[in-house]
Amino acid sequence: MNQADLIIRGRRVLLEDNVGPASIHVSSGRISLIDSFDHIAEGVELVEVDDDSMIMPGLVDTHVHINSPGRTEWEGFETATRAAAAGGVTTLVDMPLNSIPPTTTLQGFNIKLDDAQQSCYVDTGFWGGVVPGNTRELSSLFEAGVVGFKCFLVHSGVDEFPHVTESDLRVAMPELAGLGAMLIVHAELPGPIDEAPNTTTPHDEYSTFLQSRPRAAENEAIELMIRLSREFGVRVHIVHLSSADAVPMIREAQQEGVNISAETCPHYLHFAAETIPSGATEFKCCPPIREQQNREELWHGLQDGTIGIIVSDHSPCPGSMKLQESGDFLNAWGGIASLQLRLPVIWTEARKRGFSFQHLARWLCSGPAQQVGLHTRKGKIARGFDADLVVWKPEEKFIVDKSSLLHRHKISPYNNEHLIGVVQKTVLRGRKIYDDGKVGPVPVGEFLLMKEK
Ligand SMILES: [Zn+2]
Repeated sequence: MNQADLIIRGRRVLLEDNVGPASIHVSSGRISLIDSFDHIAEGVELVEVDDDSMIMPGLVDTHVHINSPGRTEWEGFETATRAAAAGGVTTLVDMPLNSIPPTTTLQGFNIKLDDAQQSCYVDTGFWGGVVPGNTRELSSLFEAGVVGFKCFLVHSGVDEFPHVTESDLRVAMPELAGLGAMLIVHAELPGPIDEAPNTTTPHDEYSTFLQSRPRAAENEAIELMIRLSREFGVRVHIVHLSSADAVPMIREAQQEGVNISAETCPHYLHFAAETIPSGATEFKCCPPIREQQNREELWHGLQDGTIGIIVSDHSPCPGSMKLQESGDFLNAWGGIASLQLRLPVIWTEARKRGFSFQHLARWLCSGPAQQVGLHTRKGKIARGFDADLVVWKPEEKFIVDKSSLLHRHKISPYNNEHLIGVVQKTVLRGRKIYDDGKVGPVPVGEFLLMKEK
């Protein structure tokens, strides 16, 4: 490779199997060499990182709802990717729904690409969608570069992205198998939700909402997806796993050779149902945040590798849709915006439980990159990889102030939370995209269109 045009060095560089002093040499946006701390070339721009800061691979977040075009007032490419940059995220993948049109047709995808053009501060990929009747669109979407496809097994929350039934999946799955495309699934089935006991407790009690989305809805959906993955040989990924009851079932299927994986999200690993205040609809998401015991079981699922990655499921909406005045959990929009906070939330919880920086990097960086086929380019500090880095202070505490959140609407259950781990700088392909509180100056993110799969 060419002579480096930038060197970043520090005493705590997180490489694949150790943390230690190193210099990272960058040439044309890629890591050309990882060398000893002292080995730096003359006349090359040098970024020195404080001794108490860590240099880690830029975060990859494969579950982000940007909602644009069509619902740009909920979020947008500029606001979301600025929040990402401030949170140490260098790559994100946008969900196919909540935008109008949704990414369920090639035409819809092209409209989204136009909308996102020149607006992304981080590298951005896209999921396509499987909805009833769009099987004919899947191959052209895949050829145009979506990383894979998402479906819902229950109402998605928006009418233009209808959910699928088992018989719809039986039509789509042979096509997905032929393409070799991953299907990611919102795994809740309507049956157990419809059958949930009609509670008489008030709508502003969190327990009312929790009972309305029972674990059985997730467990039965995951059972179905294991069965279909086995039958059709489609790679299936369960998004935002909340019910820890399903962990043993997923583990057994994995051991048996079924091509199934799972993610969970910061809110399921940090909060617990028991402590959610009445009327605090900022905590509403689907599937719901469950009990403390469930949270610990999800951590065990991460520890043994059954759950491979942690992604944000950043899902914002205008403040009015959270119905904060009435505190009505049943009718408020479900979704938590946490794109900017995934690193400190997970580090705060992981360090308490004795996990290492390597675990953190696997869950937040290399694992998600691997999920979407970016594992030769993103998610690691290694020679030949994109020079995507986050510099952060793993021992520095802070209190979340919602005014510091850069996504469009600031409502957040994390407001006033005490967290550990402060992001200082984010580097995308060798360019600083966030430094000491400032994003920018211009959006240099590229589209990650996965045309060579
Ligand atoms: Zn989602």
